[in-house]
Amino acid sequence: MTELDVAVIGAGIAGLAAADRLRRAGRSVRVFEATDRIGGRMRTSRHEGYLVDEGAETLGTHGYPNTWELIRDLGIDTEAVLPVTASVGIWRDRRVHPRVGHPLGGITGAGLSVPGRMRMGRMIGKLLRRARKFDVDHPESTPLGATTVAEFAADYPQELYDYLFQPAVGTAFGWQPDRVAMGPFVASMISTRGIWKWRTYRDGMDSLARAIAETVPVETERPVAEIVVDGDRGVRVGFLDGATLHARQVVLAVPAPLARQLYPTMPAAEAAYADACDYAPMIRVSCLLDRPLEPARGRRQPRVHALLLPHREEDVLGGLTVEHNKAGNRAPAGRGVITLLPSTKVTAELLQESDEKIAGTLLERAETYVPGIGAACHTTLVHRFPQGAVEPSPRALAARPAFAARPAGPVEYAGDWVFLRASSEGAVRSGTHAAARVLSRPGTSGGQAPVAAHPSPPHRAT
Ligand SMILES: Cc1cc2nc3c(=O)[nH]c(=O)nc-3n(C[C@H](O)[C@H](O)[C@H](O)COP(=O)(O)OP(=O)(O)OC[C@H]3O[C@@H](n4cnc5c(N)ncnc54)[C@H](O)[C@@H]3O)c2cc1C
Repeated sequence: MTELDVAVIGAGIAGLAAADRLRRAGRSVRVFEATDRIGGRMRTSRHEGYLVDEGAETLGTHGYPNTWELIRDLGIDTEAVLPVTASVGIWRDRRVHPRVGHPLGGITGAGLSVPGRMRMGRMIGKLLRRARKFDVDHPESTPLGATTVAEFAADYPQELYDYLFQPAVGTAFGWQPDRVAMGPFVASMISTRGIWKWRTYRDGMDSLARAIAETVPVETERPVAEIVVDGDRGVRVGFLDGATLHARQVVLAVPAPLARQLYPTMPAAEAAYADACDYAPMIRVSCLLDRPLEPARGRRQPRVHALLLPHREEDVLGGLTVEHNKAGNRAPAGRGVITLLPSTKVTAELLQESDEKIAGTLLERAETYVPGIGAACHTTLVHRFPQGAVEPSPRALAARPAFAARPAGPVEYAGDWVFLRASSEGAVRSGTHAAARVLSRPGTSGGQAPVAAHPSPPHRAT
């Protein structure tokens, strides 16, 4: 007997987006989440007036069409998705250079020498001439194929590797340039128009997750142990506490390695792809401050909300975000929040350490960039992400076509790994896609709508 129409496993934004789409299509859905909170890598916590975004911190005005559609459908006021007016900076020669990823950065330099910025300009021009061929939905089919970031960078001066490619992929994604392909990164940057006109949810990055959970039943502290496809009976979902239920269909919305564990009989092409999806680990240490500190800047220099720290300059810290410069409401009046990110050189090693050791190590290094941070910091909160950012590696790109060509089945997948896009938009897109595939299956109450190969045409966010 089927007890449930669709079970969604994982209350990250991918699973919740799938659940929202299925509910709107008239399906009965229930979401099961292992931890005691929803949002996954987009969680926000609240501490004595501080609003702490634990994982994701911003979203794009451009390049986030599925997210903006969800925002509108949920009735979230677009005024509640604040523009981030402060800039992204990079550290070079003992000072901050602002406007990384901003159109004006090509002129002001954003940390590059004059010859360096001219080479960057020519490179961007060349990539933009083929912009249409960089499709975020088909990361395996870009003109750059499986060329890694390091291989791509080898055609350019060392300066571009040191102060552009390495920090761009290292700080934002925790990626190492020799492990990830350049094509999907370029596709993502073209879609978002660089790091320009970014935004943040006024009420925390978990805003979407919370809004969806008001309309779809979500059970927290319900870790799933295993799913088994059970012929005509649909899918048996076994929970860690020994309970089971049968669902007509399942959306498995957990990171790829966890999907592999939960679904041991995963079909071959799906298993091959899930096995190829590795993740860069990430850590964020939120430092709650008794004053609104920020990196030193010149009189005419814009404030930064994020600072990239290249390997060439720094071994332990990879970057930091000045959360109160991102949105004033992240800290009570007169206070501040700065989040520290370790360098990709040390993240895996630090993950084995205690919270105290991680926070102490990063805070000590942060003094160089934000003098006084140690004295101003009264609380540190350590957020660990063993599966931080999915890597669009050459191996994953090679396995993706067979995965993407699979017929719709009783178990569908959602998660940023589905499109090899390590962003909340990639996750939301995967949820929308999974819902369309669930609805496309013959014999299900949702009808026979075709599976969308592409999202609805890109539209402007505002
Ligand atoms: C540090 C960091 C910074 C980032 N910054 C940005 C940013 O600024 N902008 C942006 O767009 N993106 C950013 N991202 C990426 C973005 O956060 C993720 O791509 C996205 O949130 C992934 O969503 P998901 O639903 O695919 O996975 P997850 O959020 O990981 O959700 C999976 C859920 O499944 C649950 N689960 C796991 N196992 C089980 C089980 N056995 N049973 C039930 N539930 C289970 C987990 O607890 C989790 O809640 C960042 C990510 C990190 C880590």
